[in-house]
Amino acid sequence: MSITLEADALLASPDIQRPQNFSTLLASVKKISGEVAALHAADVDRQARFPMETLSALRKARVLSAAIPASLGGTGCSLTELAHLCSTLAQGCGSSAMVLAMHFIQVACIARHGQENHFFKSYLRDLVKHQYLLGSMTSEVGTYGDTRSSICSVERKGDQFVLNKDATTGSYCAFADGILVTSRRDHDAAANDQVLVLVRRDDFTLKQTTSWDTLGMRGTCSPGFRMESSGAIQQVVPGSFADSSARTMVPYSHILWASLWWGIAADAVAKAGTYVRGQARDQPGTVPPTATRLAEVSIELETMKNNWQSAAQDFDAMAPDAVSQDQLSSMAWALRMNNLKMSCSEAAPKIVHRALQIVGILGYKNDSPLSLGRHYRDTLSASLMISNDRIAAKSASMLLVYKDAA
Ligand SMILES: Cc1cc2nc3c(=O)[nH]c(=O)nc-3n(C[C@H](O)[C@H](O)[C@H](O)COP(=O)(O)OP(=O)(O)OC[C@H]3O[C@@H](n4cnc5c(N)ncnc54)[C@H](O)[C@@H]3O)c2cc1C
Repeated sequence: MSITLEADALLASPDIQRPQNFSTLLASVKKISGEVAALHAADVDRQARFPMETLSALRKARVLSAAIPASLGGTGCSLTELAHLCSTLAQGCGSSAMVLAMHFIQVACIARHGQENHFFKSYLRDLVKHQYLLGSMTSEVGTYGDTRSSICSVERKGDQFVLNKDATTGSYCAFADGILVTSRRDHDAAANDQVLVLVRRDDFTLKQTTSWDTLGMRGTCSPGFRMESSGAIQQVVPGSFADSSARTMVPYSHILWASLWWGIAADAVAKAGTYVRGQARDQPGTVPPTATRLAEVSIELETMKNNWQSAAQDFDAMAPDAVSQDQLSSMAWALRMNNLKMSCSEAAPKIVHRALQIVGILGYKNDSPLSLGRHYRDTLSASLMISNDRIAAKSASMLLVYKDAA
């Protein structure tokens, strides 16, 4: 059964049309993380297959509309709340959490930048109803990892467009109901004069061009694709990608990614805790030396959590007025997001590494309940997912002119 059909069947059940709030969503995600995602995570990883059981369960619990405003039927979760959902799911399966995070990022771009447009308002209502899954295509053959430049362009013909793109990496695009694609605004536009375009399943065809046999994040199913699409001009998100990137895509990406990397690291530390308590039970009245290591790694885990939580809370505290939104385009905020991304992406594999030193051989084995191989491999993707070197180079040029007001 296709995932969409399976979800449709689940959506037909009357009990899931009830209104949602954050606490009920979080309780559902906790259950899904422990009872569905964790159960299938090893197989998803081994086979590099899409975590369809988890996605079906998320759809059934109506988690895919968490980022949509309540006025359009969604839960209207804040960024802090979305981050809690992603970090909770990541404790069961990192790939599933990455899929959920990327979906939330795309939905937020539409909800925050397209809501004035009739087409997008109606699309968001449909997403609530059908629990559509949205993917992203920012990467492109020839632009390397630079999300802020495109080669492809929106070819306009009256009120219709044609958009074709060669993407190097397209997570779960083969399973998505829609994809948000970055592109040059039109044939004559400069490489960085970009827009975001929503293409729906019926609007596009995909030809897989590369494989996805990776170290980690295998369940995100992210090979390269040649995408061909056409649609109505109203599917172009209003405004520039420069704005939606700075004000939504970058903060949502870096905060949600950091939260899920933390969730993977937290699960690794939880396994280390189980191991240490087992040792303590074997030798009553003594504190095993690994307990000191556990205390040390707990500090790193807490520091990482404080980092993404405070960024999410500061984002949520900003009013939706023009002054606050301009703050999101400031150098100070851009540097903060870059710092968050670089520090959390480096912290996550280090924390898993320390957990592995505590657990020892039982963590090194693939077939042990305390296995940490998948956690290690998944978190190694963090520094590459928009290369830290690329981000550091951007921060370096900003720091040549930026003086911290504090
Ligand atoms: C799990 C996962 C899921 C992904 N999903 C998607 C998706 O759904 N859609 C999508 O569009 N993309 C996706 N991506 C792609 C991702 O966002 C990046 O575009 C991609 O990982 C960058 O590829 P790269 O390392 O070859 O590129 P680059 O950033 O060009 O890096 C290549 C090399 O150049 C170096 N480098 C680059 N810039 C500099 C610099 N200024 N100074 C010094 N060295 C530099 C880097 O360190 C690296 O060694 C995903 C990636 C991952 C890991």
